Order: sequence, then structure tokens, then C-alpha cells
Amino acid sequence: MEELVALCKRRGFIFQSAEIYGGLQGVYDFGPLGVELKNNLKSAWWKSMVYENDNIEGLDASILTNSIVLDYSGHTETFSDPMVDCKSCGLRFREDQVPKSCKKEDLTEPRQFNLMFKTNIGPIDDGNSYAYLRPETAQQIFTNFKNILDSTSSSLPFGIAQIGKAFRNEITPRNFIFRVREFEQMELEYFVAPGDDDDAHTSWVQKRLNWWEKQGVPINNIELYEVPTDELAHYSKRTVDLMYKFPHGLEELEGIANRTDFDLGSHSKKQSELNLHAKVKLNKDSNSKLSIKNNDGAMVVPFVIEPSAGVERGMLAVLNEAFTIENLPENKSRIVLKLKAHLAPIKAAIIPLKKNDEKLVDLAKNIKSTLQELALGRVVLENTGNIGKSYRKHDEIGTPLCITVDFETLENNSVTVRDRDSMQQERLDIKDIKNLFEEKIK
Ligand code: ATP
Repeated sequence: MEELVALCKRRGFIFQSAEIYGGLQGVYDFGPLGVELKNNLKSAWWKSMVYENDNIEGLDASILTNSIVLDYSGHTETFSDPMVDCKSCGLRFREDQVPKSCKKEDLTEPRQFNLMFKTNIGPIDDGNSYAYLRPETAQQIFTNFKNILDSTSSSLPFGIAQIGKAFRNEITPRNFIFRVREFEQMELEYFVAPGDDDDAHTSWVQKRLNWWEKQGVPINNIELYEVPTDELAHYSKRTVDLMYKFPHGLEELEGIANRTDFDLGSHSKKQSELNLHAKVKLNKDSNSKLSIKNNDGAMVVPFVIEPSAGVERGMLAVLNEAFTIENLPENKSRIVLKLKAHLAPIKAAIIPLKKNDEKLVDLAKNIKSTLQELALGRVVLENTGNIGKSYRKHDEIGTPLCITVDFETLENNSVTVRDRDSMQQERLDIKDIKNLFEEKIK
């Protein structure tokens, strides 16, 4: 983990937020390469959900959340963790995360601590006009259920996908970007007819495993954890967690829950007419009945399958898998990030052999714009005049291809193409570069 954290800072992936003032605990900023990697991971998720499934629609809802939504969802009452204080070291911990160095007899009785961030709305802070920063992206999907039904031609089964920020006032943020207070979630709420939920749940667990494999996180490094009944969230009938071997240990990467008809039922009016399976709080405020016509024409409240993944945890898993220290001849070694090409922050670096040679630099610029126009991701001109240093840098940040323009290029239009993983170099005609690039990056 230490080496990975150092690389992330050195190369501009991830920085501690407000570092120049000593930082803000549990909050991180994503630098020039971090933002590319993050966008690429989110875009891979979005494509696999929204573009590849005609029955899944996208949504980008607000972060500020009306407190009433979180009352009916159960968050105001139950979204809390048990917290204890250690009288010896004076620190506060989540009950299941007390370090071994604290003795049991030094710990206070656990008390519940609500993880939601509350914020004032409007110019008067009278304690009554407040909202929450959403603790999960899911609730706005449920409150928009009717809007999406009315504006699309969706019928069961169908899904609503959303990527966005979520906030949790974690008692003990830790392990780099694994547990933070501000993070992003990639959540799908997949609505199915009651009775079809068990099969849909099983199928989504497999689909999600396959997706992680495509991002470079092998299925063999993920364990399925069947959450025991007494640990299930109040809305869940069954939850399977995908547990990944992070550098600090086996922990949750993604949770896949069967939320039953709890959420739509909770946010509905006239609940007594809905034949709900879940136990919900009586809703006196909603103006909408969140039901849909089943295939046989009956009105039903669908069950919901929710695959919910954290973007930061995904990045950490992807980076951890890609991070490699390779031994080279002559007792040398190199660090290389073997990222899948579609995730790499930079797809190709074009390197003129000599920094100030106008002809070489112009040719390199031409190649750069030709490849950039393909819109497959960022291509950079690496005009440092130091080939060895450029290769080392681009190995470390995971750039799949380095293309060097040298004096031979001026004579015969050929360039040297170096592959990140094999370090093989081949001489290619400039006109063949576009095809090779498309083949490698797509
Ligand atoms: P944990 O048990 O680790 O606190 P959780 O079960 O509360 O996680 P969920 O509510 O299921 O997490 O959230 C779905 C996903 O959101 C998680 O699988 C994780 O990837 C991500 N996530 C949740 N909390 C955090 C956090 N504090 N920092 C980063 N990612 C998070």
C-alpha cells in the first residue's frame, strides 16, 4: 500500500485534500491522472449498464436531499454505526474497528452515531430548514421512479443507473481511499416483478464479477460474502458482498442487495392498497403511488436488485492489481502499472527524440492530433528530450504505447513503437500507427 500511495502522489493520481493546511481527514483530491482513471472506470460502468442494456436508463439526481426522503427510507433512524471511546488513548473508533492496542476495559459502552452530513438550507439557520448530503445515490432513483416511468417506455424488468457523490461521516476513515467521507458510487436499481427477484439477484452477482474481471480485477481475487440474516440492512432480503483482497485485507468492493419492495413501498401513498411484502412506515406525505403494470396487467410494486459499487474502492482495486515491480537484467527493476488499456489515463505518448528539433516536434504533434481525433482517450506530446526518463514515467503511469519520432522518421516515415508490458520495440510506418492504436486501445 505504501508504495502505491507514494506512486499516486508522485505521479499526480491522488492527493490528500487541503494538504497545504495539514489535510482534511477522510477526503481526497484526484489529480491530472486520477481524474482520467476515475472517468475511464465510471465510463466503463456506464457503457456496460446504460449503453449495453436497452432496458436501463441513466439518471443524475441532486446531492442535497430533502430530509423527508431519508425519514421514509429509514436513514434518519438507522443509518448509524456503533461508536466507542478509548479512555486510554483518547481516540474514538467504530466498534468493529478498534485497534488491538486498545484494551477492552478502556472502552466506553457503544453508542449510535448517525453517519449523515446535515446542512442548512437558505439564509436563516433556525435549525428547521436543513437538508442532508445524500449517504447513497439510491434514494433519488426511487423518488424519480414515476418521472422515469412517465418519460420513457419502460416495463418490467428495467433498471435506473446513476453515478455520483455520496457522503458519510465515517467514524474512522482509513486505508487511503478505501474508507473516506466523500466518495462516488455507481449504483443500479433493477426493478423486477415480485417472484423474479431471486433469479435476478443471482444473475447480477455473476454479471458484476464478470465486469470486474474486464477491469483487471480477477474473479479469483474476489470472494463472495453472503451477509448473514442478522447483519442484513433493514431493507434487504439477501445481500452478497464482493470482497476483494485489498492491500490492507479482504474487504467489501461492492454490495449486491435484494432491497425487496421496501423503498418504493416506503415512498408511496396509499400503501394499504399495494400488497407490500416489506414492513414500511406509514407514509402521510407522498403524492405518488409507485407501482407499475405487470406483464399480466396487474399493478405491482416491483422488487429491486441493487448492485452498488464504490468508485474509489474500484480505483484502489484496479491500481493494486496493475501495480507491478519487475526485475530487469543487470540488477535493475522498473515499476509498471499494467492497467487495462481502456482504463489507462494516457493512451499513448508521442516522444520527439530531440526536444528542440522543429521537424521532429512538428511530426510528433501531427501524430498526436491524428490519434487524439480518434477520441479514444488522452494522447500526450512528451517533449522532454529524454527517452529513458519518458519510458520510465509512462511505465509508472500505465501508458500502453510510447511512439518515438527520430531522425530516421525524417528519412523513411517510420517511428518506434514501444509496448508498455513487453517493452518490445518495433519500427512501423506512420500510416500504420492509427490502426495499431485503435486495435490496442479499443
Ligand atoms: P462498509 O461495510 O465497508 O462500511 P457498506 O456496506 O456500508 O460498506 P454500502 O452501503 O453497501 O457500503 O455501499 C455500497 C458501496 O459504496 C460499497 O461497496 C463501497 O464500495 C462504497 N462505499 C461505502 N462506504 C464507503 C466509504 N466510506 N468510502 C468509500 N467507499 C464507500
